[in-house]
Amino acid sequence: MSRVKLLVRLLNAPEGGETAVAMAARLCYSGANIDALREKVSAADQNAFIQRLAEMGHLSPIEHASFTFGIEGVSRSLLAQITRHRLASFSVQSQRYVDQTKGGFSYILPPAVERLGPEYQARYEEQMQTIAAWYDEWVEALGGGKESAREDARFVLPNAAETKMMATMNARELLHFFSLRACSRAQWEIRALAWAMMGLCLAKAPALFAHCGPSCAFGACSEGKMSCGRAEEIRKKRADLAAFVEENKQAPDFEERMCAWAQENA
Ligand SMILES: Cc1cc2nc3c(=O)[nH]c(=O)nc-3n(C[C@H](O)[C@H](O)[C@H](O)COP(=O)(O)OP(=O)(O)OC[C@H]3O[C@@H](n4cnc5c(N)ncnc54)[C@H](O)[C@@H]3O)c2cc1C
Repeated sequence: MSRVKLLVRLLNAPEGGETAVAMAARLCYSGANIDALREKVSAADQNAFIQRLAEMGHLSPIEHASFTFGIEGVSRSLLAQITRHRLASFSVQSQRYVDQTKGGFSYILPPAVERLGPEYQARYEEQMQTIAAWYDEWVEALGGGKESAREDARFVLPNAAETKMMATMNARELLHFFSLRACSRAQWEIRALAWAMMGLCLAKAPALFAHCGPSCAFGACSEGKMSCGRAEEIRKKRADLAAFVEENKQAPDFEERMCAWAQENA
């Protein structure tokens, strides 16, 4: 059994995704046929046009660009939150099929517990080991390493247990996801994931994601009375993210760097 940390990889992003978006948008305003449109769009830089779409609120064209992420080192607690986003597609590691006996389950340590110091960390780890022993005991009692035994033994596993998933969202849903989950009101773990995903998207499709982030990063706060009142700080953080991406996007371990940055700064 071990403690694990967030890792998110951008597995699939449309090559020329911004071209498809620009074509979809131009098609709305043009009498040209598809081939003529493709030629027109390929011949000129579409970045400024794509950025204007978002400003106009003409967002349906950006649904034509989808992004797939591989996510690990996150808790079942995060899973419960991210899967509320109904326009995303998910595949999640199964606790029925994957054997987690003999210390096989990994867990997430909340930073607040870590900050309490080594004594509390050790206590937390001890509790995880106790739960792992309960889990093994139930698998054994329910018939050994069978699917039906794991199916019920998993009821004693904690929210801290690690899960792995693949998630696919189109750019419009991603912008919505970032506006909610990169906000300082979101819970720390999904917020770190959202900031890491924002960095990966900014590196891959800068025009589409030029204004991604919580609403206050580029305009007014949408949280009303619940506002954290820290818009200026968030704007600086959003600018820091853009600078970090520019400096690091060519690095072979960019995704690892992005996750470390997000966990430190989100
Ligand atoms: C800070 C925070 C705290 C939260 N606390 C809680 C909580 O205590 N309890 C809880 O249950 N949830 C909580 N949530 C989850 C929240 O209520 C949403 O379920 C989640 O954020 C998904 O948002 P969404 O529905 O906008 O997104 P998506 O499901 O990604 O949908 C995107 C958009 O599509 C449209 N849409 C999608 N489906 C429909 C539909 N059926 N009808 C009409 N329009 C639709 C909406 O415009 C929606 O905003 C919290 C979320 C946040 C960010």
